[in-house]
Amino acid sequence: MIKKVQINLNPEAAADEAAIKKIAASLTGTDQKEISIVRVIKRSVDARKKNIRVNLTVEVFSGEDSAMPPISPFIPVDVSLKREVIIVGAGPAGLFAALRLIELGIRPVIIERGRDVSSRKKDIAKISREQIVDPDSNYCFGEGGAGTYSDGKLYTRSKKRGDNTRVLELLCLHGANENIMYETHPHLGTDKLPGIISGIRKSIIDAGGQFLLEKRVTDFLIEGDTIKGVVTSDNEKFYSEYVILATGHSARDIYDICRNRGVELEMKPFAMGVRVEHPQELIDKIQYHGNSRGEFLPAASYNVAKQLDGRGVYSFCMCPGGFIVPSATAQEEVVVNGMSPSGRNSPYANSGIVVEIRPEDLLKYSSFGVMAGIEFQKELEREAWKNGGHTQRAPAQRLADFVAGETSGSLPKVSYFPGVTSSPLHSWLPKAIGRRLRDGIRLFGQVMNGYLTNEAVVLGVESRTSSPLRIPRDTEKLHHIRISGLYPCGEGSGYAGGIVSSAIDGMRAAETICLVCRS
Ligand SMILES: Cc1cc2nc3c(=O)[nH]c(=O)nc-3n(C[C@H](O)[C@H](O)[C@H](O)COP(=O)(O)OP(=O)(O)OC[C@H]3O[C@@H](n4cnc5c(N)ncnc54)[C@H](O)[C@@H]3O)c2cc1C
Repeated sequence: MIKKVQINLNPEAAADEAAIKKIAASLTGTDQKEISIVRVIKRSVDARKKNIRVNLTVEVFSGEDSAMPPISPFIPVDVSLKREVIIVGAGPAGLFAALRLIELGIRPVIIERGRDVSSRKKDIAKISREQIVDPDSNYCFGEGGAGTYSDGKLYTRSKKRGDNTRVLELLCLHGANENIMYETHPHLGTDKLPGIISGIRKSIIDAGGQFLLEKRVTDFLIEGDTIKGVVTSDNEKFYSEYVILATGHSARDIYDICRNRGVELEMKPFAMGVRVEHPQELIDKIQYHGNSRGEFLPAASYNVAKQLDGRGVYSFCMCPGGFIVPSATAQEEVVVNGMSPSGRNSPYANSGIVVEIRPEDLLKYSSFGVMAGIEFQKELEREAWKNGGHTQRAPAQRLADFVAGETSGSLPKVSYFPGVTSSPLHSWLPKAIGRRLRDGIRLFGQVMNGYLTNEAVVLGVESRTSSPLRIPRDTEKLHHIRISGLYPCGEGSGYAGGIVSSAIDGMRAAETICLVCRS
């Protein structure tokens, strides 16, 4: 028999299997000796009051029943001689599209500009040590995509729970810890992601799919209103009447190709700002009511949002126990983002604090047409590069100084490896961003006592939170509104954002193509 029960425990008891079993037995009226397995399917920390509690939902298995593995297997079809679909980009959208195509009996041909996930590690180290950004292999580009060297937070606002579960299952089947299936805020950890990505590559190749690395798509082959294939940087042509375009939102060259080939694009709202870093201990104290987190509570996080003059100012991609990382894709720009290892055990807590930007805010860039948002991003990233000292060092300012409009005479130690240069961000960030950020942070300081402090540092610029463009597509059929056979998907299409929603989008593209092939 299987019984489900909600349990509320103190953090220490919630970490103790025997304590959970005892209370689960009592709440379900089951003899402890009869219980075969107690499986936690949901866990969340309730820190609203001083007396911090952990909420668990558990399944109690007794008698003949046992906790059957809830994960449906990946059943590949040998696709080596099957119809081919080109996938441009090996990020979450491209990789999950490939896995789904394989289950459906179609051969994916993945074309990825960057290097394999382990070589990529060296290119990433070069950014920090030598201040050199390889435009094809960096924090955003390379096997695994932008999410690979990230926190690997797996939350999504997608309501499609079924698809969401399948993404998590496929991650577990490729080496992720099964706790991602039940944690309320699951995350993989940047130390675990490369192994998972190599496992996915192996599944694709073993099934007969093709995986081409270090090949950049430089053009589309389009006849009339139909895609016929793509051209790569070494002038090789790849033909298929189905192309999944999963290149992420940093692939500005892909948007240029779209423009050159008459593939319509649309502007959309996005967000830009800074990354703020506090000592993790301070965030723990704020969130855990003055206490340190001790042995049994996770590194605390926060989530704040306010509306200012009709624009949202909010925290984005909070990384407790993490690091700020250099996420530029070209040499003369500075872009910051965040990540954390699975243990979330660095002494720093960082989060993007960003301001919503709408197309109507970009009148100054209207001569760039639909590319106005990209141009705005570029300008700010170049400005950060100049103010950081013409390297990957990030311009930085103490948080209270930033809000008060004062230059910081010194900076505390930060997690950002390339280093920081003191810079008055308040004076060079565009007013629409800088002023709203400063007002927003003042308000965040009112809800989180101790947040607005000079122990914290602001680093610029957090400019790649979401795509300023959409590659418009048919709502049902998912192909581009005009070019048949071209399936823009994932974050670069403007229809997804984050690892899970991009992966779901990739799988949907695969399923739609399968339906078209069979009709
Ligand atoms: C540092 C960092 C931390 C992040 N943390 C999280 C997190 O914790 N949780 C979360 O949900 N999201 C996180 N994100 C965002 C997340 O990574 C993206 O939303 C997600 O990866 C988008 O998936 P995608 O497949 O659509 O695109 P991408 O992951 O961007 O993948 C696109 C791929 O296409 C390739 N490509 C680009 N142009 C070409 C071309 N011309 N030819 C061939 N290949 C090309 C790129 O090299 C890349 O591998 C983070 C991002 C960064 C940078």
